[in-house]
Amino acid sequence: MPNDRQITGLVSIDMFYFRPGHTSQLIVLGIAILFQPHVYATDNEVSTTCTRIASKLASINLIECLDRNLLSSASYSENNTPLLIKEYPPLENRKPQARILLLGGIHGDEYSSVSITFKWMNILDKYHSGLFHWKVAPLVNPDGLLRRKSHRMNANGVDLNRNFLNGVNDNAGLEYWKKRTHSDPRRYPGKKPMSEAETRWMHQLISEFKPDAIVSVHAPYGIVDFDGPPKPPTHLGPLHLHLLGTYPGSLGNFAGEQLGIPVVTVELPYAGIMPSEKEISRIWVDLIRWLKGNVPKDKTKGNRLFITGSSSLDD
Ligand SMILES: [Zn+2]
Repeated sequence: MPNDRQITGLVSIDMFYFRPGHTSQLIVLGIAILFQPHVYATDNEVSTTCTRIASKLASINLIECLDRNLLSSASYSENNTPLLIKEYPPLENRKPQARILLLGGIHGDEYSSVSITFKWMNILDKYHSGLFHWKVAPLVNPDGLLRRKSHRMNANGVDLNRNFLNGVNDNAGLEYWKKRTHSDPRRYPGKKPMSEAETRWMHQLISEFKPDAIVSVHAPYGIVDFDGPPKPPTHLGPLHLHLLGTYPGSLGNFAGEQLGIPVVTVELPYAGIMPSEKEISRIWVDLIRWLKGNVPKDKTKGNRLFITGSSSLDD
């Protein structure tokens, strides 16, 4: 969640991530791949979106994106971009310990949050052991990332991390925004909670998948934030626990505080620079270790019942 000053500094980093001249190669490659349907079990929507992602992020190339075998979720962003998802289902003869939802790119200018989610999917593709049942959405806000100059908000200028149900009333987010952020456009919560297609999609995922924990990746604070039960991780790799608090309409407020689902927010140190390979691996290993030791516990089991019985989630 960079502030305005940090965002100004990202202009040059944006150029670092966007590689002019690379697009035409990717289009040629994309066309070649489309004519080899037996190689990539993917559809045109996924190919097109992967081509756009690869054109934007230096650390994810087209093959790497296609190799993740993402699926169209049948839901779309406000600008009609498919919202992509990958499931790592339970394996035969092993009951998963918990269901985990991993989200990247809620804020469109936090490039590293998308890239690292792809890198972690690569690990899951190789080593998914059935310990957890995963659903991974590496780019929740495609319209924010995939515009010419990426920005935090979605296509309607809404901060998706302020657009969830706030548990108070429809105006609580807007009132907080006016009073506490002085109507900062980068934190606009939308006309009312759940006004945005991307938020409704995340809400639907939570409602249907009933995750025992949610991991949401952001940048650039370089810390671990946490909402909800149980005990938070003290650190994930080089990132140490630092509680930032929640805001009306944030995912941490909605899922962590209202629904009682543990929400681990991984705040990478830079929005435009990836952690090293070693750090990417260390954060992942520590995250798995914490999930294994803490999710689900008694409290989170109770919360699953709460979700099932919650009419508000089905609104
Ligand atoms: Zn963020």
